[in-house]
Amino acid sequence: MVQNNDGSFKNSERLSCGQKRYLSKSCFRRELHNGEFVNREWLLYSPSTGSVFCFTCTLFSSKHSNFSTTEFHDWKNALKCISGHENGSKHHKNMLTYSSRQRESGQLDSVLLKQLHNEQLYWQNVLKRIVAVVKFLSSRGLPFRGNNETIGSEQNGNYLGTLELLS
Ligand SMILES: [Zn+2]
Repeated sequence: MVQNNDGSFKNSERLSCGQKRYLSKSCFRRELHNGEFVNREWLLYSPSTGSVFCFTCTLFSSKHSNFSTTEFHDWKNALKCISGHENGSKHHKNMLTYSSRQRESGQLDSVLLKQLHNEQLYWQNVLKRIVAVVKFLSSRGLPFRGNNETIGSEQNGNYLGTLELLS
């Protein structure tokens, strides 16, 4: 997939509140909850229009949104909007459609599918650990809550404390 994300975003220049803004390379990287960074394979930059779009939503969306056209260039709010799009149900549905169509046609995009499967595996493992902690504390009749719910605090109770230990 040609994402055009090598950092030459000259045509992305936009004026916002009298200030020149450009697309940032960081928009193409997503930070997972475990601190790892992955490439957003779905995000493409169009050098001719100087904007970004989501290729799966462009292919499969029936309605137009910011990312299913080549019109997104609000660089001030880019990270927030990109993250919002990425976590939206329509985008997930289109990603799954893309994955299943590729499988059907035998043209497996291994990088994109691997990323999707790794995320699924990550959340399955998080859920397994949460269930294990709940079962462990329940079986011993231990209290879950502490004096606060702050991650890193020594007063946050057995539940959060055990999850911190496992993480
Ligand atoms: Zn999308």
